[in-house]
Amino acid sequence: MEELGDRSSPPITRADCEALDAADPLGALRERFDLPAGVIYLDGNSLGPLPRGVAERMRHATEAEWGRGLIGSWDAAGWIDLPARCGTKLGPLLGVPARDVFVGDSTSVNLFKIAWAARQLVPHRPTMLTDTSNFPTDSYVLSAVADASGANVETVPGPGSTAHAPVVERLARSDVGVVALSQVDYRSGHRYDLGAVTEAAHAHGAVVVWDLAHSVGAMAVDLVANDVDFAVGCGYKFLNGGPGAPGFAYVAARHQAGLRQPLQGWMGHREPFDFAADYEPAPGAARLGVGTPAVLSMVALDAALDAFDGVEPAALRAKSERLTQLFVELVSVGPAGAECAVIGPSTAAGRGSHVALRHADAVAVMSALIEAGVIGDVRGDVCRFGFAPLYTRFVDVWDAAELLGDLIYSGRYRAERFHRPRRVP
Ligand SMILES: *Cc1c(COP(=O)(O)O)cnc(C)c1O
Repeated sequence: MEELGDRSSPPITRADCEALDAADPLGALRERFDLPAGVIYLDGNSLGPLPRGVAERMRHATEAEWGRGLIGSWDAAGWIDLPARCGTKLGPLLGVPARDVFVGDSTSVNLFKIAWAARQLVPHRPTMLTDTSNFPTDSYVLSAVADASGANVETVPGPGSTAHAPVVERLARSDVGVVALSQVDYRSGHRYDLGAVTEAAHAHGAVVVWDLAHSVGAMAVDLVANDVDFAVGCGYKFLNGGPGAPGFAYVAARHQAGLRQPLQGWMGHREPFDFAADYEPAPGAARLGVGTPAVLSMVALDAALDAFDGVEPAALRAKSERLTQLFVELVSVGPAGAECAVIGPSTAAGRGSHVALRHADAVAVMSALIEAGVIGDVRGDVCRFGFAPLYTRFVDVWDAAELLGDLIYSGRYRAERFHRPRRVP
């Protein structure tokens, strides 16, 4: 790559990054993905790339199972077991037994069911607590749950330099029944201390609902070890389940008996094919089922989760921390640092698996970067870069920082073609 005269030299060379990749215990996992050549993909926190084997599985599910097996495939091809099978693969990533995980529906729908169910556990504590920087769908859903269950939503400032202090301080008043937060802030990348917040909530008599959309698949979450009550999450981000993949929900075993959910449908019934007149919930988290699973999407997710086969979540986190920290350091000392401010935590420990850079012309910067072969995304005035430890190499981080520095130093992003509006940023 061309060196520009007056830039300060980066603290680590590309050759150093090649050496890090050669020694990376997760390095071989990149082969489990069908990544397009010439692209550095740093948007796996928004849409994971295609794992190898998924396309074949989907072709088989379409042509053989649906095409020839027809309705018999519900049984013969195990379509009816797909949610449970995905749950079995997700369990280790969440640190939970498979029977405590429901797979299906979207994160938004699951959050509605779970937050409503959580409310039933604390009827005399009418405040649902979240933060100002939660993902919009979470805030919208929580408002709807509050309306439907006679509660109110209160927001505290999002995780900033004060970490989780605002949430914990607010818990001291005894009206908070449900604390619903995203573990990793979708914009800034701030990461709550899941264990500490859960413990504080319990100490004050509240239950917690964690949204793991930006954490599962990039780090160990350990829901049982941290005594988490409820969680929801997304199948198409770091889990790579494909566009619109089913999400999931977790219910701690201690809350399952008697748990009610607001969308009780036949697929959450104990025996759906008894066609009984009355609703009787399935045991475990399976009662979160509503309607017929999206089989083709579920096939993709099931096959995609095989990319995590044999992978220790703790190893994912260790690599993710090194990747994000490397990017922050390279950007800070390089020419991009002149115009981009790293927002969010300054340490890898306080961060999820993405890095957010504020730039006054963020959309143009990202458009120019995508043209140069580095794919990230934009949220408001922030460029987001996701570093998925399963397939991102240290050289990718180095090259991305270099290309970003080049286009900022040269001002190339100011060209008119980078300022056209897009429907999905
Ligand atoms: C991505 C994301 C969602 C997505 O919800 P869908 O129902 O799948 O559209 C929800 N919450 C958070 C925090 C997310 O990051």
